[in-house]
Amino acid sequence: MTASLLLRNVRPYAGKAVDLLIENGKITQVGASLAAPAGIAVEDGKGEIVIPGLVEAHTHLDKSLLGLPWYTNEVGPRLLDKIDNERMNKKRLDIDPARQSARQSILSSLKGTTHIRSHVDVDTEHGMWGVEGVMKTRDAYRDIVDIELVAFPQSGLLRRPGTLELMDQAMKAGCEIVGGLDPCTIDRDPKGHLDAVFALCQRYGKPLDIHLHEPGEVGAFSLDLIIERTRALGMAGKVTVSHAFCLGTPDPALIDPLIDQLAEFDIAIMTTAPASRPAPPVKKLLQAGVRVCSGSDGIRDTWSPYGNADMLERAMFVGLRNNFRRDDEVRLALDVCTTEGAKVMEIEGYGLDVGCVADLVLLPTESIAEAVANRPPQRRVIKRGKIVARDGVSIRTAP
Ligand SMILES: [Zn+2]
Repeated sequence: MTASLLLRNVRPYAGKAVDLLIENGKITQVGASLAAPAGIAVEDGKGEIVIPGLVEAHTHLDKSLLGLPWYTNEVGPRLLDKIDNERMNKKRLDIDPARQSARQSILSSLKGTTHIRSHVDVDTEHGMWGVEGVMKTRDAYRDIVDIELVAFPQSGLLRRPGTLELMDQAMKAGCEIVGGLDPCTIDRDPKGHLDAVFALCQRYGKPLDIHLHEPGEVGAFSLDLIIERTRALGMAGKVTVSHAFCLGTPDPALIDPLIDQLAEFDIAIMTTAPASRPAPPVKKLLQAGVRVCSGSDGIRDTWSPYGNADMLERAMFVGLRNNFRRDDEVRLALDVCTTEGAKVMEIEGYGLDVGCVADLVLLPTESIAEAVANRPPQRRVIKRGKIVARDGVSIRTAP
């Protein structure tokens, strides 16, 4: 599944033009006018920018409606309305996790994403349907994208008896990460919920990535409990908190001590840079030493009609939400969607250096900030040394 390629005339992060020699999927030389080994494929980079593959660190591959008839959303305003609506209509709407995750994975790949972390629903209505479907896609499309699965108790963990056992089954089946969800407002049992998900992490030696939509003081309370358990169980570096809207509370006395502890216990934050909710302050977190990643979250599903799997667009949202205007700030937004995401997902050999895996994107713009601002559809995407998409066309076809 690896390939060799001599990539001529590309500009790493918009710097000086170089050639990249890729052998067996890895970058083996970077330099000017490299000699082409006999028989190697040569690609003219045309002076375009090259960056490492985009990292989609939070999505839901199992629930997209891509390729299905338009879904008229008449769902109620509460989180629970969306949760219950989806669970009750998934089969009726024919949201087959295997097919839908394949469609979204191809879309992500052709836009330049080379790594995806997908939360996958585990509930008593559908059991392992989602996990099995996304695992099928993970295996079948390994040539274009790497996918890791988070076992995700979308409908709640303790409020629906039987879910915890299914979560255990999902971890046994090979999910890489334990998920969780709003311990106060969904399960209404913060101690019970967090003790249960952390116990699963301990049992399987896996990280945690927990959805925390809870706002303000409630969210801060849950976050504090998460920090407490991360410290007590020695799980520094192994916990991600997704959304963390509470960190967008404009009250330094509430959030500054939390940010200090996130840095101390190396707890990562995932933000979609939402337009309509309080959002974690990206620059402040990065400056404090907190890893920050981003993701599309759900893409065109029963929750919302939005999303196109473009992580360059997501970088723009991160920039807009955080008032990033300077080129160096826009670069930070891109870092959140590339290198920072790679740190959160603990991707080995990520980057543009010799020895790194050749997961790359070529962009026909002058600067990084221009790439984020313009989001050109002309992109070449390379996975383990092989060109897997050109100008919006993937080498794989969607089911
Ligand atoms: Zn999510």
